[in-house]
Amino acid sequence: MKITLIPGDGIGPDIVAATKKVIEATEVDIQWEEKIAGENAISQYGTPLPDEVIESIKDNKVALKGPLTTPIGTGFRSVNVALRKELDLYANLRPAISFKGVQSRYENVDLVVVRENTEDLYAGVEHMVGEDAAESIKIITRKCSERIARFAFNHAIKAGRKKVTAVHKANILKCSDGLFLECAQKVAEEFPQIEFEDRLIDNMCMQLVQKPELYDVMVLPNLYGDIVSDLCAGLVGGLGMTPGANIGENGAVFEPVHGSAPKYAGMDKVNPTAMILSGILMLEHIEEKAAADCILKAVKEVIADGKRVTYDLGGTAKTSEMADEIIAKMTAG
Ligand code: NAD
Repeated sequence: MKITLIPGDGIGPDIVAATKKVIEATEVDIQWEEKIAGENAISQYGTPLPDEVIESIKDNKVALKGPLTTPIGTGFRSVNVALRKELDLYANLRPAISFKGVQSRYENVDLVVVRENTEDLYAGVEHMVGEDAAESIKIITRKCSERIARFAFNHAIKAGRKKVTAVHKANILKCSDGLFLECAQKVAEEFPQIEFEDRLIDNMCMQLVQKPELYDVMVLPNLYGDIVSDLCAGLVGGLGMTPGANIGENGAVFEPVHGSAPKYAGMDKVNPTAMILSGILMLEHIEEKAAADCILKAVKEVIADGKRVTYDLGGTAKTSEMADEIIAKMTAG
């Protein structure tokens, strides 16, 4: 199948090349349609998000994307946010899984955060009230709450998971979070095979740092989802280890959580794991589970060995060398 490939800015081309090489070693039939977005697109197209990038993702329905730099002080808004809006990528999926060999306070974290990506306080409806007050409006709708809850349950089933926890503050925000919770409860009735529970956001944060093993899939409105997904990344060793996906009816974009780390651009130095794990999510999305499992097993082995890993994992390997080691493990069986 055809997949849009966006190498991205900064470290993007290095980690995307490593990921492409690893995916190609599985021999899954993919034709990459490479598209330029971000800083490199500005000189060529006069915009960091040319129409042909959007068209390519709409046609192919799936994209693998490196991080993009948001130019400061040029008037361009975030390309990442624009892409999510343009394609209505309403679900942000962020797994956080412990890897043996990665320094962290926890050993057995295996969580998935499903964040609503389009509304809540991030709808951008805010204004000053006179000079000394400001008002931001939190928008929660039945349509968006039901579809994100349904996404979370469907993901739980597809990924063989057991439980969905809806996270909210409905005791205080009785209208907005009350509606979110009501929608999650209603959708839960459609999925009797998956356990359902809800937690208040404050209690959830405490529980996650005390007993992360009690949780499985969490579904949250936009703002809580933003914060809790970073909290979960911290539980498993940080940015270099955390993949992500933004998914909607018109397409799905798979990308690491971290940014373009411009100071390491072109140095073949940074950790490709988050990007490779995003590639694994993409393979699962296109129903190539065997290839996804094969890469994941090899990534785990290489990190546990600790011999051919990048600087942030305590090694001296280059990005490309770590990818080659992963391929060697894959082909060794
Ligand atoms: P960043 O994630 O790019 O980098 C912060 C630091 O984290 C780096 O300096 C590096 O030390 C470390 N790091 C990040 N990725 C790593 C990796 N794979 N391996 C090892 N270490 C890694 O964050 P930033 O500096 O705040 O942002 C840089 C640019 O990236 C900005 O323009 C920002 O807008 C953009 N950004 C893009 C995305 C995206 O495309 N989805 C996400 C976040 C930030």
